[in-house]
Amino acid sequence: MALLPFDDRDGFIFLDGKIIPWREAQTHVLTHALHYSSSVFEGERCYNGNIFKSEQHSERLINSANLVRIPMEMSVADIENAKREALEANGFKDAYVRAFAYLGGEQMGIDTSKCVTHFAVACWTDWISYFDPEERKKGLTLATVPTRRPPPMCMKVHSKSAGNYQMSIIAKREAQELGAYDALMLDWEGFVAESSGANIFMIKDGEIITPNPDRFLNGITRQTVIEMVKTMGYSVDESRRITPEELFTADQVFLTGSAAEVSLVSRIIHEGEEHNFAVGGDAQRIAESYTDLVNGQS
Ligand code: PMP
Repeated sequence: MALLPFDDRDGFIFLDGKIIPWREAQTHVLTHALHYSSSVFEGERCYNGNIFKSEQHSERLINSANLVRIPMEMSVADIENAKREALEANGFKDAYVRAFAYLGGEQMGIDTSKCVTHFAVACWTDWISYFDPEERKKGLTLATVPTRRPPPMCMKVHSKSAGNYQMSIIAKREAQELGAYDALMLDWEGFVAESSGANIFMIKDGEIITPNPDRFLNGITRQTVIEMVKTMGYSVDESRRITPEELFTADQVFLTGSAAEVSLVSRIIHEGEEHNFAVGGDAQRIAESYTDLVNGQS
């Protein structure tokens, strides 16, 4: 399928209270968010007409905005309505949904006290798989990269805010330069954090281990998968940090995210050495159970 540019498509976008044609959802070059990353966003998936964990995403959007001091007047119910309107206007039942809030062009500079918060929802259907389907099938290759997750006193690491994604974007490029598909990001102290856009889990001797999320986004999918695997009978350790060396002893490694869903990792490149993991087994069962869960089958 030819790549459709995101700013030149048919369809509709919800912008500042109303549904407008996709191509008319324009913003000025002096939009504050464009210069200072003053924006927060959500990435969600609608499965067969239902956005999975929709209210939790709306709550997180408001929380992210509060953390980075973007004034947000909208309630969870307002955001829910906007998402529904956007999906309905486009006639989508299965789609990726992007709700976001950003500061406009009323003011330039670091003082944002006179900026106005804008709110939009766009949705699209061509992210059936967030990762390249071929790469996902054979298991993703990650590489540890120079860019690290910063300490929470320096960045609002629990907000899904654009500023945090500068690190993700650089990390992904660094990983690609190392011949990998995505980045394994460590935190500033060298412990395992997450990938550029998903949380990470390891399975070792049947136990599931994932780093405690006090230094990065505690993903909604991460929380969902932890609850789900417990009901499947697995024990989960989410209470401590993981070193890269411990991660490399794993039998299996997988990533979780609303867009990424559950995606298996086959290889991690670290300081020139390759560590390989099985693609299948428990991780594959967990991926399939997650698919059933989001589709309302369990
Ligand atoms: N970490 C980062 C950096 C992400 O971008 C995402 C995707 N939102 C996640 C983790 C996973 O979060 P969620 O499961 O809520 O989508």
